Amino acid sequence: AANSDLIRATLFPGDGIGPEISESVKQVFKVAEVPIEWEEHYVGTDIDPRTQSFLTWESLESVRRNKVGLKGPMATPIGKGHRSLNLTLRKELNLYANVRPCYSLPGYKTKYDDVDLITIRENTEGEYSGLEHQVVRGVVESLKIITRQASLRVAEYAFHYAKTHGRQRVSAIHKANIMQKTDGLFLKCCREVAEKYPDIVYEEVVIDNCCMMLVKNPALFDVLVMPNLYGDIISDLCAGLIGGLGLTPSCNIGEGGIALAEAVHGSAPDIAGKNLANPTALLLSSVSMLRHLDLHEKANAIQDAILNTIAEGKYRTGDLGGRATTAEFTKAICDHL
Ligand code: NAD
Repeated sequence: AANSDLIRATLFPGDGIGPEISESVKQVFKVAEVPIEWEEHYVGTDIDPRTQSFLTWESLESVRRNKVGLKGPMATPIGKGHRSLNLTLRKELNLYANVRPCYSLPGYKTKYDDVDLITIRENTEGEYSGLEHQVVRGVVESLKIITRQASLRVAEYAFHYAKTHGRQRVSAIHKANIMQKTDGLFLKCCREVAEKYPDIVYEEVVIDNCCMMLVKNPALFDVLVMPNLYGDIISDLCAGLIGGLGLTPSCNIGEGGIALAEAVHGSAPDIAGKNLANPTALLLSSVSMLRHLDLHEKANAIQDAILNTIAEGKYRTGDLGGRATTAEFTKAICDHL
């Protein structure tokens, strides 16, 4: 029965290890008494003509109505005549920004223990506009599209995020010395937005220099905002700084305040159904979702329980060098709560 005190959120358990790690999120939310009621949707086995994809129209309507959701990994179906699942979600829900918090996990040793940054990637244009063609034999052309509207939108989100999350600095990442028109326009939009946020330090860093600074001393960065292609690369680079994709949460922000959180790893078919998957990335994504809903107390409690469990080192999944099952790791988190 619907309970009016509960917030409804859409859950796509996804494929492969998706249902196992989603179960982990459901259990942790239950123990933490998070006031959320899940509306579960699975990817269909037939193409829905209304979406031209295996994603059903009802599932997209569910996200549009709830404005908030969590997505497990989805295996890319083989065969023609359908749109990619992630592309369908991005287009249909207008998911214009991909946000990835990236921080060192205490107790899980990597080269750095002081990473604490956020990458915000423009997700709708740039080199990913799909405008490629052959001019003549042996010569091809790809168009990079940068618009004022999309650049202002993502810059606005980055500064808003910085302000509401107690962050001090926003760095715009670019190559405007070469891409004078496209990245030039992106920077111009970032500067315009920066003027409205005098309390936040704004800087511009050239992408190549940014890469060098990130691997030398990632603590130099706070919030990074960038066009699509740079964001794709830099966000994975940052995931590597803290131990890999299995630990990295992400959240997609869409038109009209939609937030769809997701783990960045895939469906891991090699370990699916074996109770071996690490649910950390999806759990930390669900924490991002709770922060978007301003449920900070619940978010902090769950995040602390996850980090303490990993730091303790008694229950860790195989990918982190431990021997715990998904269920044992999840139970340890619940015990911490
Ligand atoms: P993958 O991320 O599924 O797996 C790569 C390796 O990492 C595997 O060895 C796997 O066991 C391991 N791994 C991944 N997540 C893990 C976790 N949570 N715990 C422990 N180990 C984990 O990448 P892939 O094999 O290239 O892709 C498999 C399928 O996933 C493909 O169909 C692909 O299209 C899809 N995929 C989906 C998404 C998404 O939905 N966002 C992203 C990437 C890949």
